Amino acid sequence: MKKSILLIYTGGTIGMIRTKNGSLIPFNFDNLKNQIPELEKFDVKLDHQSIKEPIDSSNMHPNVWIELAQMIEDEYKKYDGFVILHGSDTMAYTASALSFMLKNLQKPIVFTGSQLPIGIARTDAKENLITSIEIASQNKTPEVCIYFEYKLFRANRATKINASNFEAFASPNFPILAQAGVSIQYHSINYEKTNEPLTVLKEINSEVLLIKLHPGVNQKMMEHMINQNVKAIVIESYGAGNVSEEKWFLSILEKCIEQQKLVINITQCLVGSVSHGMYQTSAHLDKIGVISGSDLTTEATITKLMVLLAQYQNMEEVKNRMQKSLCGELSG
Ligand code: ASP
Repeated sequence: MKKSILLIYTGGTIGMIRTKNGSLIPFNFDNLKNQIPELEKFDVKLDHQSIKEPIDSSNMHPNVWIELAQMIEDEYKKYDGFVILHGSDTMAYTASALSFMLKNLQKPIVFTGSQLPIGIARTDAKENLITSIEIASQNKTPEVCIYFEYKLFRANRATKINASNFEAFASPNFPILAQAGVSIQYHSINYEKTNEPLTVLKEINSEVLLIKLHPGVNQKMMEHMINQNVKAIVIESYGAGNVSEEKWFLSILEKCIEQQKLVINITQCLVGSVSHGMYQTSAHLDKIGVISGSDLTTEATITKLMVLLAQYQNMEEVKNRMQKSLCGELSG
């Protein structure tokens, strides 16, 4: 039996064309398809759908995550795997969000895109797309992944690290899932089989604020950013989770926690994790109730919070789950 794959097109460089003034804008899927005759040669049944309006992924909005989750839910039984064509700029956010929204997932969902549009001779689009289809049809990685430049990443561990090179993504705190060469070498992961049906969480609460610390950030700026509508604050701190010891800074965080806001600490470093108490400059955070995000990526932290905040009213439920790995996003 031929495997069947659904390609979902959301836009991004892969399908873009150049306007008269030289900027790239999203175009339709038919244009992209016409440029890859190889798609016809595949020994898989390939269908495609597009989101309502293909976009540059910098225009991404949680509503599109919901649209994608709905498309997957509607077609889940019909296909062996899914490939999602997406701009690389916010791919790690969308892919992370879907990893938390699709519970009991038993089929591969592979996000891919490219750094050069399909119409350009040196494009990386063809290899990325063709190998993604192959990976999605093999069912060796039944999770949400990102495939880019010969590497397959766990979605909620990946981050965009390069705006110029073809190697645009990395997964600094987790090994790659597979390497594509002459053959595709998968690393062994024990996936739990479940008979539970796919459950799709289709609500997002985006009242999440990210604050990246830098020397010079002051009380006024911080107070301005933390407004009434924020339910969770992600602090991107220095090194192993270190923050300023200034009184005003800690008392702002303390006040947020008193107001039932969740405050989570992740590191600005690409590699490594938060370790409260390793330095004096983070020792007080546990005491005031800031939780450690350990080695979560920024993308995974934000999207996980958005999914959990929509699911649970009780902050303790959110807090507990933020400190547990729900789908491989956090090291043990
Ligand atoms: N701006 C583009 C996007 O994210 C970049 C890309 O696709 O690589 O849609």
